[in-house]
Amino acid sequence: MAEHELAFLATNDLCAITRGRAMPLARLDPEIGCGWVPANLGVGAFGTIVEGSPFDATGDLRLVPDRRSATRIDGIPGRPPLTVMLADITQTDGGEWECCPRTFLRRAVRELEEEAGLRVFGAFEHEFMLAGDAPAEPPMSLQAMLRTEPLGTELVGILAGAGLQPENWLAEYGVHQCEITVAAADALTAADRAVLLRDIVRNLAHARGQQATFAPLLDPEAVGNGVHVHFSLRDTADQPVTFDAGRPGRLSAVAGSFAAGIVRHARALLAFTAASEVSYLRLAPHRWSATHAFLGRHNREAMLRLCPTVEIGGRDPADQLNLEFRAGDATGNPWLVMGLLIRAGLEGLRAKLEPPALVDGPIEAMPAKELRRAGILRLPATLAEALAALEEDKTVTGWFSPELLQVYRALKQDELRRLEGLDDAAKCLRYAGVY
Ligand code: GLU
Ligand code: MG
Repeated sequence: MAEHELAFLATNDLCAITRGRAMPLARLDPEIGCGWVPANLGVGAFGTIVEGSPFDATGDLRLVPDRRSATRIDGIPGRPPLTVMLADITQTDGGEWECCPRTFLRRAVRELEEEAGLRVFGAFEHEFMLAGDAPAEPPMSLQAMLRTEPLGTELVGILAGAGLQPENWLAEYGVHQCEITVAAADALTAADRAVLLRDIVRNLAHARGQQATFAPLLDPEAVGNGVHVHFSLRDTADQPVTFDAGRPGRLSAVAGSFAAGIVRHARALLAFTAASEVSYLRLAPHRWSATHAFLGRHNREAMLRLCPTVEIGGRDPADQLNLEFRAGDATGNPWLVMGLLIRAGLEGLRAKLEPPALVDGPIEAMPAKELRRAGILRLPATLAEALAALEEDKTVTGWFSPELLQVYRALKQDELRRLEGLDDAAKCLRYAGVY
């Protein structure tokens, strides 16, 4: 370790921006971390403290790192190694702070385990674009992948070295679009990895003279960048419990109820999973994203996709079967997104909901009458609509402290105000510069 190697204590805020403070690694006392300020949570996506935030110039908190999250990022050309530690925001006596997004997920994980004896096992799959004027390459091609080199090989190496367990690296369908996936892990680790991955990618691209952006859309005509959350359920002995060969889609009763909870609360969840105005340009028909709250078999336009299993050579489907939540993007805080999926799923378990109807084939093939009969709802078509749906769903608002909701509303209203009068292309550009 170099004499002055830094540790960065990090939180990811309500606008999904990772913020924090660095200190010499050698001086870090992980039990107490470093100072933090409540008002920081009221800083909006566009960089200023928003009107209506409940936090003012007073108050003090701590960023207390979770030692298990310590991640040494090494190998970015021209940049020294950095240890990032993800932190819970606490009171100065170590007590939990009601507005900490990571604490929100930790509590959800704890409740699911205590109440239902279940754990979520999952992974976030990220798409992003490398901005630039280079000519478009054929999508998904070897040629397109090679044009990103050495960035691709470096990225996979850095992620592996940092313990994020990269799986697939590919040139995606969109112009200059890439996708990176990492292995599944427990819910907190999965969300921690999502937080880390975004800045590793952006930083590596920057070091290579490029700009990587995870914004949901770079222009209204472009292909969208999704963040898809894969998840399955395990019992407390870490045995998979999502699979049941005797049931529709081979989805176990427990996983079916869990999925039904997510479908039931989806309209409100979107206020956090698709957290920007331009998120809703992506959530449009024929974009391989999601327009309706339903469970679809192997369907990439389903909000929840029942994913395929690989049974080549007798591989066991039971520990593979998983669902994928597709109505999210990188404007959503990964801890909140995962925490919300867990809380909504737990509601489904509490209410013993029947599994959602398993839709085969494209949703547009279903007449409106059939959609109504199956109880399939249209997802919000704008951020304003999602925020209104959140206010209407008292179950979902009940999971948050009033202050967190107040600051979230203020952040999002501020965002909407700042975008007033811009056309969609200008709005996309505005977000592309941030995410
Ligand atoms: N780019 C699509 C999205 O916005 C997803 C494509 C895919 O299925 O990977 O979510
Ligand atoms: Mg993809």
